[in-house]
Amino acid sequence: MILSKENITDKKITILGMKKSGYSAALLASKLGATIFVSDSSKDETVYQNYEKLKKVSIPVEIGGHTDVIYDSNLWIVSPGIPKDANIIKKANKLKIPIMSEIEFASRFTKHPMIAVTGSNGKSTTVNMINEMLSANEWKPILAGNIGNPFSKSVLDLLNGDLEGNIFVLEISSFQLEFIDQFHPFISIYLNISPDHLDRHKNMDEYLRMKLKMVKNVNEEDFIIYNSDDKALSTSFNKSIANKIPYSLNQKNKFFTLNSTKLYDENHDTLILLDDILLKGKHNLSNFIASATAAKLLNVKNNKIKKTMEIFTGIKHRLQFVKSIKGSSYFNDSKATNISSVIAAINSFNSPIILLLGGKNKDSDFRLLLPHTKRHVKHIVSFGEAGGEIAAAIGDAVRLNITSSLNQAVASAHKIASPGDIILMSPGCASFDEFKNFEDRGEKFIKMVNILK
Ligand code: ADP
Repeated sequence: MILSKENITDKKITILGMKKSGYSAALLASKLGATIFVSDSSKDETVYQNYEKLKKVSIPVEIGGHTDVIYDSNLWIVSPGIPKDANIIKKANKLKIPIMSEIEFASRFTKHPMIAVTGSNGKSTTVNMINEMLSANEWKPILAGNIGNPFSKSVLDLLNGDLEGNIFVLEISSFQLEFIDQFHPFISIYLNISPDHLDRHKNMDEYLRMKLKMVKNVNEEDFIIYNSDDKALSTSFNKSIANKIPYSLNQKNKFFTLNSTKLYDENHDTLILLDDILLKGKHNLSNFIASATAAKLLNVKNNKIKKTMEIFTGIKHRLQFVKSIKGSSYFNDSKATNISSVIAAINSFNSPIILLLGGKNKDSDFRLLLPHTKRHVKHIVSFGEAGGEIAAAIGDAVRLNITSSLNQAVASAHKIASPGDIILMSPGCASFDEFKNFEDRGEKFIKMVNILK
């Protein structure tokens, strides 16, 4: 669909979903002069607050259900929370109403180049690494997308002159790719593909197909940086006409390669010794190589890339060090909501681990942990709604005790910890049984740890 600053004023646009991204899309569409209507089937706290704010600026809105007004429209912008097989989407398809995702919509109103990062794990970490590497160069990066800062909001802020920047670094989740049409990143990064969100994407092929939509418009001048250690990704781009740059922890890479002690560049000069990299974990080396590859393509000097690796401490709730108590160290990895991120966390340590695992299960197969727990997970404390299920799946193979809440799990781990142990809250489950979200779970965990003696 052709949509521009010139013709958007003739359009009636329905925006579905009133959380962060729908709300921002509504403000952007309204600023551009479209006739809009915003509708959300829920009326939870965030939705209700945004509903009040939109009403105040005279934008027509409804919450707690959709009326037929939503179908009186030339275009739908849908939030990532709405699956493509929802009944309302089916009806819109029948009525031939074009549908766009929020990132597709936002991308139509900026000419800035875009770096788009996707994958099952490591997106937030990687966009932050790239942001840091690009900062203080001729680039002024804008971090947006799934990171909690909607793309539409940044585009609107740019239009209003409230934001400066000349390149977007976008975190893109698979849900944001469901309704992509002309979205066209200049550099696309694929970190890994693991079986997360299968509840919504049905199977791996479908999940991969969705992820690959991100590069459907790339051409010979664009770049796809992808993790060739990931089986599913290693052959995914064979047919793409873009410049392909695979990266690996085990093979020679185009720009930066890993050996047992350092990362070195294409001239075999040392970029950085591994001991000088602040953020630990093999998976983070992989994220660093992906980020450095993008930075290199944008002419960032090796010195700046190195500096970032020396100072980047990671982001909250991702393998975040909390505190040492009587010689054992507590780590908050609340963002680990799937099994592969738990595996990455376990493999980041060489000391004995007491693993806190649990929350609201997402149909994960906890047995996938077993090959990784053997080496140095000495005990698992399961908690929350999934606690029993975890025990049933792996309780025979590892030492494990079940608790009902995170608080109890922390107390239990504290009791059995000996000096040198790592107490790792890497739950491998969603948080909604006990907490608002993973941030809330992480914050509460930090508080629980801070009162331990
Ligand atoms: P995302 O934004 O994709 O959810 P985050 O950077 O927030 O990713 O990290 C989510 C979880 O995944 C954290 O527990 C983190 O330690 C882990 N993780 C980060 N990078 C990787 C990676 N490359 N492979 C596997 N796990 C990773």
